[in-house]
Order: sequence, then structure tokens, then C-alpha cells
Amino acid sequence: MSTASIAHYINGQMTEGFSGQTSPVTNPATGEVSGRVALAGGADVEAAVAAASAAFPAWADTPPIRRARVMFRFLELLNAHKDELAEAITREHGKVFTDAQGEVARGIDIVEFACGIPQLLKGDYTEQVSGGIDNWTMRQPLGVVAGITPFNFPAMVPMWMFPVAIACGNTFILKPSPLDPSASLLIADLLKRAGLPDGVFNVVQGDKESVEALIDHPEVQALSFVGSTPIANLIYERGARHGKRVQALGGAKNHMVVMPDADLDKAVDALIGAAYGSAGERCMAISVAVLVGDVADEIVPRLAERARALKVKNGMELDAEMGPIVTAQAHQRITGYIEKGVAEGAELVVDGRDFDAANAGEGCEEGFWMGGSLFDRVTPEMTIYKEEIFGPVLACVRVPDIATAIRLINEHEFGNGVSCFTESGSVAREFGRRIQVGMVGINVPIPVPMAWHGFGGWKRSMFGDTHAYGEEGVRFYTRQKSIMQRWSDSIRGGAEFAMPTHK
Ligand code: NAD
Repeated sequence: MSTASIAHYINGQMTEGFSGQTSPVTNPATGEVSGRVALAGGADVEAAVAAASAAFPAWADTPPIRRARVMFRFLELLNAHKDELAEAITREHGKVFTDAQGEVARGIDIVEFACGIPQLLKGDYTEQVSGGIDNWTMRQPLGVVAGITPFNFPAMVPMWMFPVAIACGNTFILKPSPLDPSASLLIADLLKRAGLPDGVFNVVQGDKESVEALIDHPEVQALSFVGSTPIANLIYERGARHGKRVQALGGAKNHMVVMPDADLDKAVDALIGAAYGSAGERCMAISVAVLVGDVADEIVPRLAERARALKVKNGMELDAEMGPIVTAQAHQRITGYIEKGVAEGAELVVDGRDFDAANAGEGCEEGFWMGGSLFDRVTPEMTIYKEEIFGPVLACVRVPDIATAIRLINEHEFGNGVSCFTESGSVAREFGRRIQVGMVGINVPIPVPMAWHGFGGWKRSMFGDTHAYGEEGVRFYTRQKSIMQRWSDSIRGGAEFAMPTHK
């Protein structure tokens, strides 16, 4: 099988770059190397920043309505090519095709939001703050901004960032994950066909070295990062040291509370989809079920039956429910957590390590396969409770009441998403108010906020203070300027030495 060469995209051109370094891209379903992605060094980052800097003045001066028109054309092209994008995602990430289609659709939501940029950029104006003086605020783009994205959403997470950044008048450098880099180049091509001027959107492929060069580059004004917590923390600190704006979204351990009054059929469906969908490789996956009162005795056997029956197959098979794990290393890491869970005394009800790759489909024997695992009687001291596993492993914790459930969740270091299944309005209200988590679902297992609400966790799930996309995204990618103005007929003669006040 021939391997594709996956390049950078700088100033409107694909380029192999200067470093000569590459890394293999693997189809996780088959284990085959399907391509080699270029790895940028400092000279490649320099070239991308130079292109983005050169493109900035004209793009920032382009009226917002014309920037919005480019977004509208991009939206049409995305809709026409969404399946092509979804196929590229399944091939390199492994997630099932229908899930990849869903990822693209949620990214498209943000492009639709960015089409409304003229309205979003409107400023504020106060007439006559003092005699003959008016004051207004406006929001202006920052310049060159960069986005560093994880493997698990190679189209959606970049689309949390660049549509808003570009629509605001910035120029953008995307540094995708080297594990599934092809979606970024398909996106670049669609943006070019939509009429985006060269240099406004650039892709630098690579890993740590390119990220550090982007953070340290004096012309890069702001960084949006999505990935694991240790790297988010590093990027936030390093960016802040340079006085840059940083929003760094990190890892998660999302709990779903099931109350005894919940509709248990629906709770089981929700847990199975949210724990094992995308093989648990979602920052909003549910990895802990908090089962209140006697719910556990009722639903653990049902969860076990459903976990054993999961259709784990090559993601291009349309009835597949779960695909492979992204890499052999990730497979090993998840296996290690399962071993640790057993060693620390949790009850392994379903062991996904037993899965036979021969059942995944033809040609999948060398892929990175495992089934869904289910642990019961997990306690807060256990490693599998404390750490993010990022795989198809659901941990059930038994608690006596809602107060204990809330305390448990609030004490966890992560605070990305959470869910509560109940039929009680007062439990739901209390839960929504008291829980220390950024995104809350009531009878909704994966409460990813819509494009105009903004995405972001609390605690060690996010560093920085403005969320991704929505109006917070617009604020992140612009800075406010206040102008106070008067004309000579209202200027009093003589120097004033006291602080001016409005009289
Ligand atoms: P990762 O942290 O390994 O990589 C993320 C990005 O950082 C990639 O582009 C990678 O090339 C780069 N990177 C890796 N090591 C680096 C280093 N030492 N210095 C600088 N850059 C480095 O994350 P991943 O494995 O690609 O993605 C999975 C993680 O992302 C999970 O922890 C998941 O919870 C998290 N995630 C969070 C959100 C969210 O919104 N909070 C969304 C998606 C994924």
C-alpha cells in the first residue's frame, strides 16, 4: 500500500517544509501506516507566522460583512464535502463513520455562528458622557493567533477556534494532532475555495517542537489549546510568561449521577452511548456512573449485558457502535488502567481485554482493538477513579444519597462535564446550582453547549477564563478599545490639573 505524504499548508500552498522530519499516520482499525505527516521545526513555524503576519492588515481591514460572506461560502462547501471529511476522520482516528459525521456537523454549527460576525462585533456607544463628549467601545482583532488541537476531534475542535478567530479579522495557524492530520488539509482546501485570502489560515503539522515555537514567537498574540491537562497547564504557563492570551482546555473525568427516581431504561441507554461512544475517547465521555441508593443492583447487570453486546467493528461498517483505540500506545495505557483497577480491588464485571480482533472485520487483525470494560464498586481512592483513562472503561461508584454524589464530584480535580438523571425538579435544580463543573446535563449525558453558548470546563479541565466559541470566543479573539471624543467647540480653555470628572 502506498503511503500519502501529509504536508503543511502555508500561505495558500501545501509544503513539505524544511525540517525533513516526519511521523507515521496509522489506520487504527487495520494497524496499517497510511501516510507520513511532516513535523515542523522552527523554520516552518517562522514561515507560517510570516505568512499570517503579512495577511493580517488587509484581512483585518476587510469589512466584517465580507468576512462573513467567505464564511457563508465555506459553510456551503463544508456541507457539500462533510462525508469526505468524516471518512478521513474515521480512517485516521478510528471512530465510527456516523460519529465522525456528527463531529463534522457540530463543527459546522460554529461556522454558522461565525457567519453572524457583523452583529457580534457591534460596539457600545454612549452619547454625551459629559458636555460635548461621547464615549464608545469597539473590539479589534489581535493579529496572528494559533490553535493547538487534540487527536480526538480533528475537525470539530479546530472548528471551535478558527471560524470565530478568522471572522473576527485575525489570521490563524492551526497545529493539529500528528495522529490524524488529514482533516486539517481538507479544511484548508475548502477555505481556499471559499475565497479566503492566502495566509489567513495556515496549518503547521507537528508536535511539541512546533507548539513551543508558536508559543515563544513574539508575533503570535494568542493561543487556543485543547488537549490533556498536563500539556494544557504547560501551555498556559508558558504563554502567560510571554504575556499572551491563552485558553487551554484540558482533560476530564465526567460523572453521571443516576437517582432512584430516574427512568432507568433511558439512563442505561445514555450511559452506554456516553461511556463507549468513540471508544470513550471524548473529553465529554462519561467515565464514572454514580449510582444512588439501590440503583446499582438494578442497572449494573443491565449495563454489563449491553457492554458485552456492543458492536465493536471497523468504523466504516454502518452498524458499528464502537471503533478501535487510536494507537497501540493508547491501547497499552488503557489496558494498564484495567489491570490497576483489578489490583486495587474494583470488581471487573466486563473485561474489554477479552475482545477478539477477528470479530472487528476483515483485515482488522492488526488493529488496536478492545471491547468495552465495566467496573463496579469503584471507590474514590482508586487510580481508575482519580485519573482520566480516555478509553472505553466505565467505573460505577455506589453512593447512599445525592448529597454524597455532589460532594464526590465537587472533590474531583476535573470539572469538565457532568450529568444527572432524575425525574425530580428539585433534585435537578439543586444539582445544577451546587455542582462544581462547567457543563451540566439534566437527563442529557453529554451536554456539549451549542455554538452560541461557549464550551469550557472548571478546575483542572480548563486554564484561562474565556471559553471556546460563542460570545466568549469573540471576546477571546478581539480586544476592546475605548474611544472618548470631543470637538473643539466643547473644549474649555486652560489646563486642568484635577482628575477630570463629569460635571
Ligand atoms: P495531548 O495533550 O497529548 O495533545 C494535544 C496537542 O498538544 C496535540 O496537538 C499535540 O501535538 C500537542 N502536544 C503534545 N505534547 C506536547 C508537549 N509536550 N508540548 C507541546 N505540545 C504538545 O492530547 P491528545 O491525546 O491529543 O487528546 C486527548 C486529551 O485531550 C484528553 O485528555 C482529553 O480529555 C482532552 N480533550 C479535552 C477537550 C476539552 O474541551 N476540554 C476536548 C477534547 C480533548
